[in-house]
Amino acid sequence: MTLEGKRAVVTGGGQGIGRAIALKLASLGATVAVVDLNAEGARSVADEIERIGGKASGHALDVADAEQVKDVFGKIAEDLGGIDVLVNNAGITRDGLMMRMPQADWDLVLSVNLTGAFNCTRAVARGMMSQRFGRIVNISSVVGLIGNAGQANYAASKAGLIALTKSVARELGSRGVTANAIAPGYIETPMTESLPEKAREEFASKVALRRLGSPDDVANVVAFLASDGGDYVTGQTINVDGGMVMQ
Ligand code: NAP
Repeated sequence: MTLEGKRAVVTGGGQGIGRAIALKLASLGATVAVVDLNAEGARSVADEIERIGGKASGHALDVADAEQVKDVFGKIAEDLGGIDVLVNNAGITRDGLMMRMPQADWDLVLSVNLTGAFNCTRAVARGMMSQRFGRIVNISSVVGLIGNAGQANYAASKAGLIALTKSVARELGSRGVTANAIAPGYIETPMTESLPEKAREEFASKVALRRLGSPDDVANVVAFLASDGGDYVTGQTINVDGGMVMQ
């Protein structure tokens, strides 16, 4: 597998799964623009990539802000001469039971997880279409497939991301652009580290492989979809969940 000569953008790349994706794509030869709300995180991951001999840059970006997305993606495309791979990974949770959920928590999660991916996809689509090549990978969640009590906002955003993926795959397929989603199960990252040990054990017991996932488990599948191996795969959702949800 190689990504030599490819130019990639990873949103929310400053930590967790996004960091692992950025490192993996860079290790396969891609030049990686790491973008994150946390500018320091983005820059430190870019530095980490450069220290191990890769090519990377770090940028501050709120994916929910359409104007900022246009500016930052425009600058990245100009610097790199184009964008071949977009990984929409930035995501947040604001959990709470639906009946008690503040409207602001609903709005915020939808605006980052779903509108954010829409904004970034629109920012790369024209360039990918005209170069007749592009790979878009959206990081959804198994929760977007099966729902979850206490996560109505998050689950709806992740289900929406799957429908966005399929629509983009249909709209851009004739121009050589693929769009796929990955639905991770429980992955050990800063997003999930606050869960009590008992809850983690309970999760693991529901997984066929009897372990929680690592960010690298997700990054490996992103790399496959971005590489030539993924050439004839589009509009799909691939679960990376150790066999937690089987359809
Ligand atoms: P994480 O550790 O919380 O990292 C997410 C990164 O995204 C953080 O650096 C965060 O910055 C950044 N971010 C948040 N809002 C943003 C915005 N508006 N614009 C740009 N960047 C933003 O999360 P993770 O566990 O690695 O999750 C990554 C993705 O995988 C998410 O989409 C998540 O929903 C999905 N996922 C995770 C799991 C899991 O078990 N961990 C399972 C299924 C799906 P700040 O730190 O500054 O907020």
